[in-house]
Amino acid sequence: MNTAQHVINDSDESFRDHFNAVNEDGKRNWFYPQKPTGKWHTRRVWFTVLILTLLFATPFIKFNDQPLLLFNVLERKFIIFGIFIGPQDYWLFGLTMLSFMVFIVLFTTIFGRLWCGWACPQTVFMEMVFRKIEYAIEGNATKQKLLNKAPWNTDKILRKTAKYTAFMIVSFLIANLLLSYVLGVDELSKIIREPIADHLPLFGGIIAFTAIFYFNFAWLRDQACTVVCPYGRLQGVLMDRNTINVAYDYERGEPRGKIHKNQERTEGDCVNCHQCVAVCPTGIDIRNGLQMECVNCTACIDACDNIMEKVGFEKGLIRYTSENAIVKKTNKLITPRVVGAMVMLVLLWSVLGFMVVSRTDTQTMLLRAQGSQYIENKDQSITNLYTFKIFNKTNHAIVPEIRLEGIRGKLIFAGGRRSGASAGKSGSKAPDLSLEPAGMVEGTVFIIVPGNELKKRKTTLKLTVYQDNKKLEEFETTFMAPEN
Ligand code: SF4
Ligand code: SF4
Repeated sequence: MNTAQHVINDSDESFRDHFNAVNEDGKRNWFYPQKPTGKWHTRRVWFTVLILTLLFATPFIKFNDQPLLLFNVLERKFIIFGIFIGPQDYWLFGLTMLSFMVFIVLFTTIFGRLWCGWACPQTVFMEMVFRKIEYAIEGNATKQKLLNKAPWNTDKILRKTAKYTAFMIVSFLIANLLLSYVLGVDELSKIIREPIADHLPLFGGIIAFTAIFYFNFAWLRDQACTVVCPYGRLQGVLMDRNTINVAYDYERGEPRGKIHKNQERTEGDCVNCHQCVAVCPTGIDIRNGLQMECVNCTACIDACDNIMEKVGFEKGLIRYTSENAIVKKTNKLITPRVVGAMVMLVLLWSVLGFMVVSRTDTQTMLLRAQGSQYIENKDQSITNLYTFKIFNKTNHAIVPEIRLEGIRGKLIFAGGRRSGASAGKSGSKAPDLSLEPAGMVEGTVFIIVPGNELKKRKTTLKLTVYQDNKKLEEFETTFMAPEN
């Protein structure tokens, strides 16, 4: 933001005194950005095709019979690239979130708001889908302005109806897309195929999200980035003078001035045509320097390059560059701050990797029942009473079997209670230990060990959890016996 001090005269700092999206009367400044054309826009169109293809195809991709990505915030179940993170995996979830944040800090420090301009769903849908529909139906910026001022004649009614109907359809599609990431496509297709009455809350969710997206893309628009999005507000602390951004080269452009035929040019390369402002979807003048409202959409690069080509100047007056590259003609991507973030990220990813590799399918807590004593049986064996909880950390059902390892003895279950889809079906005879996906079973168990196996008062027992002879987990507990 020091940039601006180099760019404009001291008296021109007034742009900082007001929010661009609100006019002097306190009313909304509605922006009519001109249609961008040029090399960068074409690249963004292709990138959008790729992003949208991935966005719409990913929910259908399955890995190990489960979605590749799932963010079921309702049931606190997440699947990230095939790794299931359930409610018990709060450490894994916390570390994943933390490493994601450190990655954002690192990425933003180096590349600025590259994410905003190229991959953020808000920008992708707003600029590449909804704005394109608007241009197709209402025409370019000037025509849109005229149409909005025109009386409600047949042409205006038809165009507005067509535009808002198309907006509603796309919003409905996006709402379904969002739910396919929250519930999975299988659940979503059930809501679509089965009677609405069977899925009223979720159907209500689709309608609510359709309305939210419609409001966002038809009315909120640029203000989602400039007012609502917290990421945009963090830019000031995440970026430094080496960060790559869409920036105006004020060293080359200033002093700005119109071109006068048959006059030797004494000004800089900016011909003050305002084309960079005319295409900006957030209505800012990039020549004022780095601003929070800039989403790095590249429209001003193309606009300026087109002008530079016309007037015969070198392209790139506005380009991807950094403050240091403009002033010192050199840029350092790997700064101490970047190294610090990289080290932290590597550490976090190492811990995460270790946690994923060493992760077991179940997590069992087996503790001696509070206040219980060992029991000496007539056959010289000793019994201890335990309470247990077994958590299923996978997204598929498990029927666990607990075994004693390295010692003779047996387990007698006193009953079990499950949580999950069939919670509450406690077994009155043999306990049902079967676990729902991400479910839990709890109960009490007697462990009986022959007395001659026990050499001391406190013995550490090794136990394992199996399913179909596949070992899922190992754990330990203590076993009390009378002193020999
Ligand atoms: S200043 Fe340029 S890059 Fe930034 S939002 Fe406006 S047009 Fe896009
Ligand atoms: S488009 Fe380029 S030449 Fe025109 S005003 Fe903007 S920076 Fe100056």
